[in-house]
Amino acid sequence: MESLKNKILTEGVVREGNILKVDKFLNHQMDIKFFNEIGKEFKERFKDHKIDKILTIEASGIAIAGIAAQYFDYVPVVFAKKTDSLNIDSELYTSKVHSFTKKKDYTVMASKNFIKKGENILIIDDFLANGCAALGLIDIIKQGEANVVGVGIVIEKGFQPGRKVLEEKDIKVESLAIIEKMDAGKIYFK
Ligand code: 5GP
Repeated sequence: MESLKNKILTEGVVREGNILKVDKFLNHQMDIKFFNEIGKEFKERFKDHKIDKILTIEASGIAIAGIAAQYFDYVPVVFAKKTDSLNIDSELYTSKVHSFTKKKDYTVMASKNFIKKGENILIIDDFLANGCAALGLIDIIKQGEANVVGVGIVIEKGFQPGRKVLEEKDIKVESLAIIEKMDAGKIYFK
């Protein structure tokens, strides 16, 4: 997606440890007009699939998935929670995830009420790095005996193994921009 690549080049900042900061339009301040372009593009990439629901992970995935859902006939969006909150249903699917950015493990959870047997679920997230977040969401979907349609990612860091890990499990991965490398503050796309 050319417009996304341009936005990453003009507004993205490369941080230590191969972290790309895109706080100006994706992870902090959100460019909602642009999110609509992202949503349309996800629809285009998954137009041949039946999708009953979108699953994402808090926090950054929520707005992206919410806007994308409008292009999938307003299917429901569920976001996996990272923190145990008192008002969440006690009947939960949970999975352990290692955070690439925070370098620690955390548990993701979703209520059993919202992941149902036989549902076709599309996963959407902001970044793909090592694939841990996506694997956690896939685990939750499988526990609910629902089907993983695929994984839609805004920015894939192609130099990390996330895609390989997911494709080895026969998961379709669609990334709107794939970064080949980040070197001396510069970003190179595939
Ligand atoms: P993974 O689980 O695939 O290793 O990492 C994906 C998750 O880590 C995403 O949900 C995202 O929040 C975060 N992440 C990984 N790499 C980056 C990065 O370079 N920049 C930002 N902003 N988030 C990242």
